[in-house]
Amino acid sequence: MESTETSFTFSELSISAPLLRAISEIGYETPSPIQAASIPHLLAGHDLLGQAQTGTGKTAAFALPILNAVDLNRREPQALVLTPTRELALQVAEAFQSYARHLRDFHILPIYGGQSMDVQLRQLRRGAHIIVGTPGRVMDHLRRESLNLDGLRTLVLDEADEMLKMGFIDDVEWILEHTPPKRQIALFSATMPEAIRKVAKRHLRDPKEARIEAKTATVEAISQRYWLVSGAHKLDALTRILEVEDFDAMIIFVRTKVATEELAEKLSARGYSAAALNGDLSQALREKAVERLKKKSLDILVATDVAARGLDVERISHVVNYDIPYDTEAYVHRIGRTGRAGRKGEAILFVAPREKRMLGAIEKATRQRIREMHLPSQQDIADRRVEQFRELVMSTLENEELSFYSNFVQHLAKEQKLTALDLAAALTFLAQKERPLLPALKPPASELSHDRGDAKTPRAPRRERPEQAGGEPRENRRREKGGDEEGVLYRLEVGRNDGVTPREIVGAIANEAGIPGRFIGHIKLYDEFSTVTLPADTTKQALKKLEKTWIMGKPIQIRLWADEKAGPSVSIRKPRKKAVSPE
Ligand code: AMP
Repeated sequence: MESTETSFTFSELSISAPLLRAISEIGYETPSPIQAASIPHLLAGHDLLGQAQTGTGKTAAFALPILNAVDLNRREPQALVLTPTRELALQVAEAFQSYARHLRDFHILPIYGGQSMDVQLRQLRRGAHIIVGTPGRVMDHLRRESLNLDGLRTLVLDEADEMLKMGFIDDVEWILEHTPPKRQIALFSATMPEAIRKVAKRHLRDPKEARIEAKTATVEAISQRYWLVSGAHKLDALTRILEVEDFDAMIIFVRTKVATEELAEKLSARGYSAAALNGDLSQALREKAVERLKKKSLDILVATDVAARGLDVERISHVVNYDIPYDTEAYVHRIGRTGRAGRKGEAILFVAPREKRMLGAIEKATRQRIREMHLPSQQDIADRRVEQFRELVMSTLENEELSFYSNFVQHLAKEQKLTALDLAAALTFLAQKERPLLPALKPPASELSHDRGDAKTPRAPRRERPEQAGGEPRENRRREKGGDEEGVLYRLEVGRNDGVTPREIVGAIANEAGIPGRFIGHIKLYDEFSTVTLPADTTKQALKKLEKTWIMGKPIQIRLWADEKAGPSVSIRKPRKKAVSPE
């Protein structure tokens, strides 16, 4: 059994330089416990039985050793990852792709039911180093001999208990029996029911075990709530919470160094005094940030686990787990930053539906129920603003010398033949212009989920500035970017039928062309292609790189939308709803 403490760094693991570089760019600071417990065994070629759920970092635990061993000159499947759902297959493929960003000509192919067989056959013929797929479809291809696993070195069963629950276990066994006998197997499962143990016993050779232990801890002084991430974007949810929560100082936990900076920047842009705290900052800078928090010149620190270790500031009233921690121990450390010196503390946890198992584990470990919370409504926010404004007015009346201003109002009223009430209304409006007492109603939460604007209406893409395409959330994004630049529309030859989502497109453009995500504008997905708005000043060099970029195993063949001679030549079907379905 492995300990849950992560005592070493990524560079101490023997993984190749291009992978270390990618990890550092993505912003991981240290291996998560399951990574620390799994990676050395997998690198040494052992079979592995890993007990870990979503959110623990298990994908990198198997992806990094696989990528470390991949022979890029051999374009045949060297690793196969089986996942219970198409959604997970895509996520895993995306994770591999991001770790492999510095591996030249690396190809990974997700295959799952529901996707056009023709497309898959074509992609399989082109070849890939790694296949990620759902059991049914992988079996189909093995039977048709369109997938050849003779060169397979590693097989991963991801979320094996889910595959069992969904009735795929016979398919999984069939696949195991149709792979070369000497391949390495890594089996990951959140729970270890008997049927999974049996599979492990039958197929794994002398496996090493890696698991995350759940220790219990008391956190009585801290009241815990969670918000089930649904509909609204996490940033939007956080801003609403910040509006109504009565907080003194707050620590917000995210997973990566990059995320600390991005989120701190976004909160600052919204008027909060926020700063990032991560392992890249020198000790002196970290101390300075903590000092500022103590002295109240800073109210919010956005931190990684490592950077916030041991932080002891009495005025921290709230801990927000913006990204769920990878284990219960990290959670207990995080929320222990509040409720200090006999005070009460509040902990808020954002949980995505697929992370609910971790929520259960946390409740068990802290032996406390975590209450579900709902996002403050627009009315709640309005009430709170009114209340704060009232307090401000009353304390101004009490504490300031206002005779000059009274004279001014009196004079203006007389001159313009207005009542003092009219003037007070206008001045209230002006005083709260940036923070209206009656905030504009945003679209219902469900519409906010399309962060990068999955198209909702079956209109042909036009040359348009991203912010003209929709409602308020997009306008917010533009403001966030702080730019007013004109965008140019491009067409990419990957679409929904290839399983692409806006995230892959942003990832590929950011990585290949070095265009930061915040400058990548509106993305629309269609069945056969997609469109993206890029800054008008995108360099030729960046475009050249994009011309050679592949996403989801396909060259994207980027070109100007305006170059489409006859305008939209493809019949544009209504974009399908994103389905999250097995197989
Ligand atoms: P997973 O459990 O594989 O679904 O990973 C959950 C999330 O944790 C993903 O967003 C990963 O990018 C992130 N993650 C994985 N490993 C690390 C790490 N060592 N440091 C920070 N974040 C990580």
